[in-house]
Amino acid sequence: MNTYTIQPLNTGYATTSRSTYIYHHSTHKYYDVTGDQDLPVIAFFVEGNDHKILVDTGMSSTEIAHKYHHPGSTQPEGFAIYEQLEKIGVKPEEIDTVVLTHLHWDHSYYLSKFTHAKFYVQKKEYDFANKPIPLYFKSYEEPSLGLTPQFYGIDFKLLNGEVDILDGISVYPSPGHSVGHQTVVVNTKDGEYHCCGDLVFTYDNFKAIPEIKYTITPPSRFQDIVSLWNSIEDCKRRVDGRIDHILPTHEIKVLERKIIG
Ligand SMILES: [Zn+2]
Repeated sequence: MNTYTIQPLNTGYATTSRSTYIYHHSTHKYYDVTGDQDLPVIAFFVEGNDHKILVDTGMSSTEIAHKYHHPGSTQPEGFAIYEQLEKIGVKPEEIDTVVLTHLHWDHSYYLSKFTHAKFYVQKKEYDFANKPIPLYFKSYEEPSLGLTPQFYGIDFKLLNGEVDILDGISVYPSPGHSVGHQTVVVNTKDGEYHCCGDLVFTYDNFKAIPEIKYTITPPSRFQDIVSLWNSIEDCKRRVDGRIDHILPTHEIKVLERKIIG
């Protein structure tokens, strides 16, 4: 099977509440849940076999992030996905494949910059994003808010379930954070890595809490907690418990690893 390298790129910081985002209320006594935490918003540049690929494209400008999403969020100068790519010598038009874990604003910005790419997302996610319930208008930048969703006008290849995208790159559904959330598996010389999007926000979410018989620490932001719980268990099983082979979008420890594989 083909192998690739994975480079995490930081596209900015989303300010989130530890108690209402990261840790489910039933787990609060086991963690420090006071205050906010600035979570990095990571996109992954995947390269190999004459392919230049992105898994997610990161967040918006500070202005939009702060006004419409999480107050306090920032995209420092030079952190937009196309600028981060430029810093490593890659032009947006060189990207041939963009795979999106889901269509939330902080995973799918600036799509129209990638003029030569094929775009992949789960059909379930695409359908919901185009007709969200009002609770998710902000997440998908619904036009009645005065925004234009970044996925409008993009010619997606819509996926149904677990499929291969390229030799060594595949996806599987991991719903629960969003309706059609998927995890992207990248084969490297160091084995498979799972770019799991917002399946979890931090590695703490994989920790068991034996005292209350929890096998994981669920996040507090979700669309369907039963699906999410099962998706987290499924991901753990697929990596054989090797949590360091899972790459969540918002885990700061992921950024410490410059090139993976
Ligand atoms: Zn999300």
